[in-house]
This record gives sequence, C-alpha cells and structure tokens, in this order.
Amino acid sequence: MKGGQEISKTPSSSKRPMSSQGSVDIYAAQCKNCLKWRVIDTQEEFEEIRSKVSEEPFLCSRKANSSCDEPADIEYDSTRTWVIDKPNLPKTPQGFKRSLVLRKDYSKLDAYYITPAGKKLRTRNEIGAFLKENPQFEGVSVTDFDFSSPKIMQDTIPETVEQKDSANKKFKIAKDEV
Ligand SMILES: [Zn+2]
Repeated sequence: MKGGQEISKTPSSSKRPMSSQGSVDIYAAQCKNCLKWRVIDTQEEFEEIRSKVSEEPFLCSRKANSSCDEPADIEYDSTRTWVIDKPNLPKTPQGFKRSLVLRKDYSKLDAYYITPAGKKLRTRNEIGAFLKENPQFEGVSVTDFDFSSPKIMQDTIPETVEQKDSANKKFKIAKDEV
C-alpha cells in the first residue's frame, strides 16, 4: 500500500472534560516497519515528517534514542481521541502557526493559521489578502497553507459526546485502560 502509513494527532484526552476549545495536545507518527506509534515532540517536527511522508515514510530510527525494538510511546486506543492528518500537507511557513479546533460535537476540526503578529486567518482568501498586504513575507505563497481538516477516528470519540449520528455507538469502548 503506497503511502499507507498515517500520521496522527490526538486532541484532548477523553479523561478530562472537553474544554471549550478542543485542540491537539500530542503529535504522533506511526513507524512504517513495526507500526508502533512514536510521540513527536514538536508541531514543527511533526509537520516536517508529514510534509513528505509519502517519499520518506516515518521510521522509529528517525527519532532520537528510538528503534523498532523499543515499546511504543503511545497506543492507539479510545483513552484519547485520535485524528489523522492527510499525508503531505505543506509545512507551515516560519513564524506562522497552524491550529486545529475540534467542534464540541466532535463532527469536525476547523483549521486556521495564526500570523507572526497573532492575527487569525481562516480561509485561503484571507491568506491571499494578508500576503498581498504584507510584502515582507516574500517567498511565502498561498500554496504553503492548507485548510484540510484531519479525519476524526470515530472509535476514539468519548462516550459522553452526543452525536447526531448514533451509528458509531457500536464502537463504544467504555474502558479507560491504563
Ligand atoms: Zn519501528
């Protein structure tokens, strides 16, 4: 399966009540060889891996002091909610930050960018206008920004979340194992 290995992020743990803003708190990548999940320390590093994951699949050895012989850093289970990014999303230009906010009903994550001066940009048009008004960001292009939202893994949505679609009830795994 080409490019089949996925990168995932986990927004809030299901153990604590969702704050008003559900956002990503841990980044992880799956090793192509052993399929274990490795925690990626920074968003920047995560985005670097994600930006070329098809050409350069993630391997445990890429992380310092890590190898396929080590136990996984984190297990994919319903103790937290997992969302899977599309592969090969562009790396966020320097100084900008990409943010994702989970809707309260877990139906979707909304992507937006924050400029170095702290302005929120929510659409490609806003990015275009911003870059036009701020010629100091030369070399940064609209194509460096991508608003695709990651896929929410239905089997990891906490039980307490009410969803319009009750179809995912069959996935309910009640245990918080640790
Ligand atoms: Zn491995």
